[in-house]
Amino acid sequence: MRKTTKILIIDDEESICDSCSAVYIKDGYQVDIARDGETGLEKIREFNPDLVLVDLKMPGISGMEVLEEIKKFDMDIVSIVITGYATIDSAVESMKKGAYDFLPKPFTPDELRVISKRAIEKRESIKELNRLQKMREGFISMVSHQLKTPLVAVTQYFEVLLGGMAGEITDEQRKILVRSKIRIDGLLKLIKDWLDLSRMEETKIACKFEPLNLTKILSKTQELIKTFAEQKNITLKINIPDNLPKICGDEETLIQAFLNILDNSIRYNKDGGIVSININLDNENVIVEISDTGIGIPKEELPFIFEQFYQIKGKDRKETNGTGLGLSIVKKIIEAHSGNIRVKSKVGVGSTFSIFLPQVNKGGKK
Ligand code: ADP
Repeated sequence: MRKTTKILIIDDEESICDSCSAVYIKDGYQVDIARDGETGLEKIREFNPDLVLVDLKMPGISGMEVLEEIKKFDMDIVSIVITGYATIDSAVESMKKGAYDFLPKPFTPDELRVISKRAIEKRESIKELNRLQKMREGFISMVSHQLKTPLVAVTQYFEVLLGGMAGEITDEQRKILVRSKIRIDGLLKLIKDWLDLSRMEETKIACKFEPLNLTKILSKTQELIKTFAEQKNITLKINIPDNLPKICGDEETLIQAFLNILDNSIRYNKDGGIVSININLDNENVIVEISDTGIGIPKEELPFIFEQFYQIKGKDRKETNGTGLGLSIVKKIIEAHSGNIRVKSKVGVGSTFSIFLPQVNKGGKK
C-alpha cells in the first residue's frame, strides 16, 4: 500500500524539496516536486497525489490559494502546510482552507515522518470510507430494485388469484394464498423500513429544517393513522393546545416519526384500547406524549427497543407484523432534530413515549 502512496512537495526552497523527498523516497513513497504554486497545481492534476506538502510563502500563487484549489479539485487529498513564519493565525487560516496539519520550519526528518504518517492514515481512512459508502449505496439500490420490484409484482399476482381473475379458487386455496400474501407484505414492510433507515443516514435531514407548528403536524399525522386505528378498534384521543411554541424541523420526517410511534401504540394495544396524544412544555422543549393502554414493555427490554431489528419475543406479540426497525427510525429522526425520546411502560397497563423537541430559539435539552 505504501509504495503506491504519492506525495507532492510544493516549495520554492530547493533544500526543503530535496531533504523531504530524500526522506520520503527512503521510506518507499512515490514523490514529485513543484517549485511554485502554479506548477504544483498542474502536478496535482497529472500526478494525482495522496498527500501534498505545501509551503505557505511562495512567489506567484500563495500556499493558501494552492490549498483552496486542491480542495476544489479533490476534497479528499490530504495536505500539510509547511512554513517558516508559523503563527497561530496562519495555522488557523490554513486549516480553514482545508489543510490537515501544520509543520513549522525547521523540522527534523522524524517530525516529517510522524506528521506525514498521520496524514496518510487519514487519507487511507477517507478512501476506505468512500469505498464503503459506494458499497452501501450499491446495496441500497440493489435492495430497492432487485428485491422490492419482484416482490411487488408477486403481491399483484396474489391479488389476481384472490380476485378470482385466474379462475375459481377453493376456500382452502384462498387461506393459503392469504397467508402467503401476509408474509410477502411483511417482507415488503421490512424492505421499506430498512430503506427508510438507510436513506435517512444519506440525506441530511437538517438541510430541510424550517420553523414548524406541531399542532399542524400532529393533525396531519392523525389523519394518516385514523383508518388503521378504526380497523383495530382503537380510540384516538388528541389533546393539542393552540398557540404552541414553534419547533425547528423537517415536517416529512417528523410525521414519519410520530406515525411509527402511533402505529406501535395501535398494534400493541388491546381490543377497544385507547391511544392519547398530549403536549407539555418545559423551559426549552415541546414535549409530545403518546400513551397507549396496550400490552406494555417489560422493564428489562426498555434499553433495547430503539436498536435496529430488535423485537421483543412473546406470544402476545406474534400477530403484530413488526420489523424491529420502527423505533430506530424514530430515534434517528428525533436525534437529527436535537431532540430526545423517553419511554415509560408497565406490562399489561400501557406505554408512554415522550418526545422532547427544542423550542425555536431556546436551545433545547439534549
Ligand atoms: P416493530 O416493527 O417490531 O414494532 P419497533 O422498532 O417499532 O419494531 O419496536 C421494537 C419493539 O418494541 C417491538 O417489537 C415491540 O415489541 C416493542 N414496542 C414498541 N412500541 C410498543 C408499544 N407501544 N407497546 C408495547 N410494545 C412496544
